[in-house]
Amino acid sequence: MPNILEILKEPNPLLRKKTNEIKETQFGSAGILELVKSMKETLRQAQGAGLAANQVGKNLRLFVAEVEGKFYAVANPKVVKTSPKTVLMEEGCLSVPGVWGLVERPESVEIEGRNQFGKKIKIKARGLLARVFQHEIDHLNGVLFIDKATFLKNVSQNVI
Ligand code: ZN
Repeated sequence: MPNILEILKEPNPLLRKKTNEIKETQFGSAGILELVKSMKETLRQAQGAGLAANQVGKNLRLFVAEVEGKFYAVANPKVVKTSPKTVLMEEGCLSVPGVWGLVERPESVEIEGRNQFGKKIKIKARGLLARVFQHEIDHLNGVLFIDKATFLKNVSQNVI
């Protein structure tokens, strides 16, 4: 059964740690499959677009994302291509509630990684999906959007 996991908030030190690669023997294990299910439920309940494993207290290179009705679970992700064109877009984060800011990032990216079973995957993404992938991969490197954002603002009420 998937569990709703606690989402760590800044300044929890795990959010600032570069996460560990998932090992070959861990793919397809009950632990990883359960974690993906629980992260999916947690993401949906929080009404977010992406969630990294270290945001729920697991020191693993794994994120989930759900954009335009499509769900992704990516382990050991790497950005292999970025567009020279960048765009400025507003971002928020489940670990930094109530704060929004403009972040400049490549408009499109290509990422490689594994799914939860260890199968190699390659995804080309643009727009919001490319944005979410880059934000989540930053998390796995201990980087938060507030490190990159300009025009940070705090909304008076937490909307997420
Ligand atoms: Zn985030």
